[in-house]
Amino acid sequence: MLKDLFRKQRKYATIPSEQAKKEIPEGIMQKCPRCGTIMITKELEKNLKVCKSCGYHYSLSAPERIQSLVDEGRFFEYDADMLSEDPLHFPDYKKKLKSDIEKTNLKEAVVTGEGTIGGFPAVIGVMDSRFRMGSMGSVVGEKIARAAEKAATKGYPFILFSASGGARMQEGVLSLMQMAKTSAALEKLHRAKVLFVSVLTNPTTGGVSASFSSLGDINIAEPGALIGFAGRRVIEQTVRQKLPEDFQTSEFLLKHGQLDQVVPRHELRETLIRILEFHAYGREPQ
Ligand SMILES: [Zn+2]
Repeated sequence: MLKDLFRKQRKYATIPSEQAKKEIPEGIMQKCPRCGTIMITKELEKNLKVCKSCGYHYSLSAPERIQSLVDEGRFFEYDADMLSEDPLHFPDYKKKLKSDIEKTNLKEAVVTGEGTIGGFPAVIGVMDSRFRMGSMGSVVGEKIARAAEKAATKGYPFILFSASGGARMQEGVLSLMQMAKTSAALEKLHRAKVLFVSVLTNPTTGGVSASFSSLGDINIAEPGALIGFAGRRVIEQTVRQKLPEDFQTSEFLLKHGQLDQVVPRHELRETLIRILEFHAYGREPQ
């Protein structure tokens, strides 16, 4: 009887301690995937999630990105309740969407809306790689196209942050159609003579890199971001050549003329303000 009691107690004792072992270090500390430096999560967040030793840029969620960008955190979201359907009845797609909605507290992989940056109004879109790897399904494409149209109507510059694994396989060809739809909306923006700034973050690949994220009047990337269409292995096998080590990084693309600038996260807000100011046609900030 006494033995049983002890055994039960031990069982109760081991469960929380095992959980604690896993959860506490992950929550409080973060280990840099590039240089291995351990930083306290709060400090890392204060540093805009950039490693203090090697400058590695951790991913930012859409809410974190918006917070770091707009004046006083004020942001007015568009199409906040638009939800994905499962048009192809792809196995488990609905279940996966539901679990990502719960995990991220977002409805889809992009957040769009408007706010001011340094007093300059802008339409802003931010992809979130935690939601289905930031993949582009019909809703992502629709929200981006609508944001571009809104920017054209209002005459506000459009700033779009990409972070994406590419097209969303669960929506098949409908997903690929978003490349054309978003590109067409950006063409309208271009004809309305409204500025479009594309900011590519880690990773921007597949159909996203091959559509709207490469169509900026100004294309900026964060340092060390993986940017490309197909994966390295696929290309190496196709061209039968070894690719350079820094292939498909921001720095490589800048060197080869595919980007205008690589901007560290700490300088991004100021850089965007300068660009907005330069393109404000003499308008005073609000
Ligand atoms: Zn590091």
